[in-house]
Amino acid sequence: MIISQQKPFEEILSALGDSRSVFIVGCAKCATVCKSGGEEEVWQMQEALTSSGREVTGSIIIDEACHMLRVGRDLRSKQQMVDDADALLVMACGAGIQSVSAAIPKKTVAALDSMFLGNIKRFGHFEQKCSLCGDCILNESAGICPVTACSKGLLNGPCGGMDEGRCETDPDAECAWALIFARMKESGDTLNLVKSSPPKNYTKIPKPGKLKLSK
Ligand code: SF4
Ligand code: SF4
Repeated sequence: MIISQQKPFEEILSALGDSRSVFIVGCAKCATVCKSGGEEEVWQMQEALTSSGREVTGSIIIDEACHMLRVGRDLRSKQQMVDDADALLVMACGAGIQSVSAAIPKKTVAALDSMFLGNIKRFGHFEQKCSLCGDCILNESAGICPVTACSKGLLNGPCGGMDEGRCETDPDAECAWALIFARMKESGDTLNLVKSSPPKNYTKIPKPGKLKLSK
């Protein structure tokens, strides 16, 4: 899921600028789980905006704000409230914010910062495991991603700074490559133990990303 955090309120106010009336859009998926743009946070935002002298014309929680067709359809169901607003404040990830800006030709303001693709460790505790590099090497790295888990993103490691299995950039963290080698030994992955990885071919990653499934 996409991990997001609310921007400081002062920053949101500044981005709203002269817009006196605001329609708020939240997201029922990732932003709800991250507690950055679910029902409760939309309500709190509404209170905060009203207290700071802005009018809130209405709000909506879209089931998946990254679903462009759904965003357009759901916003049409609140057309009058949207029309009455000077700006739309979107409490969703960057993809959701752009679904809204594509659907409504009106000032769209981002209330959240999108941080990373995260795994849920437990409630309210998220960890990045994958950086979406588009050319997965987990088959060669014992199922642990060095692109993400190593702070230098080294494809071959460990680096010279590793100290007794700890990372030189953060002594509290285990070195990703120490973990990878331990896992390889544990699983008898002798082939990958002695192999080195060539430089990554980042041209394989389309930017912007596009994928159309064949029917
Ligand atoms: S190598 Fe790492 S960053 Fe790339 S796709 Fe696999 S898990 Fe994600
Ligand atoms: S100590 Fe390990 S995890 Fe840290 S930067 Fe070096 S190789 Fe990467």
